[in-house]
Formats: sequence, structure tokens, C-alpha cells
Amino acid sequence: MDATAKPLELSDAELTDEAKRLVGEFALLKPSLTAAAVGAALVTDAGHLYTGINLDLACGIGFCAEHSAVAEMLKHRETCVRRIVAVDDERVVAPCGRCRELLVQIDRRNMECVVLMPGGERRTLRQLLPEAWLEHLLVEGKRA
Ligand SMILES: [Zn+2]
Repeated sequence: MDATAKPLELSDAELTDEAKRLVGEFALLKPSLTAAAVGAALVTDAGHLYTGINLDLACGIGFCAEHSAVAEMLKHRETCVRRIVAVDDERVVAPCGRCRELLVQIDRRNMECVVLMPGGERRTLRQLLPEAWLEHLLVEGKRA
């Protein structure tokens, strides 16, 4: 479990380091089927840290590192992400569209989640996901 008893106040660099230490791609059934080419780390509004690695398999099976970090968070019944970052073995990588949607669909407050981007940029999910699918559900007070 990555969640700590007391809230964390990690800098962007420290959060990025948490993701970096998970990166170390290794082969599974065959060399092209791998895990841990990408690591992700997120901090929730409660100040807890959750991390994940990607899984890259054949036939579209697998998931992004952000997905496994989110799953780890959900295991602890938390849904609101304050900041998130993903890295490969060289740099910070931007979240794919599916990860952007994933974060928003678990909690509308994640539209304000800060995403650490390549080059040291910071963006909110609202900036990265304009005119989001299910936008009508993202308005405070509305539920499907
Ligand atoms: Zn993704």
C-alpha cells in the first residue's frame, strides 16, 4: 500500500521521482510483451500517494501506468486526484486521451487535477480535456 498515514506534501520533482523509481521495463511471455516501461504517481486531495506501472501486451491488452495508479487509489476508496505524473525512462510523458477520460469519469473534481507535462509544464485536466465527453455530468450538482 502506497497510502501513508499522514498527508504528503510532495514537490513536483519528488512526485516525479516516485514515478521514476518504478520505471524499469521487463519482458513477460516474450520480449515484446512488457511491463513497467512507464511509471505513474499521483497525490490525492487527502494527501495520499498512489503509484502504478503500465502493462503492454498483445491484442490491445494492457493499460497505462496512470490506470494502475488510479486502481490503487480506488482500492482505498479515494477518487479525487490533486496531481499526477507519468514518466518513461527518459522524461515526463503526457497522459493519453483514455487516461484523461479515466480521471474525469471517476470524479468530476479531477477536472482541476494538475497534470505534470513534458518540459516542466503544468496543466489542469480541464485544459487538457476541453469539451469533455460527459461534460454535462461534470457540472457540480448534476448526477447521471
Ligand atoms: Zn494512458
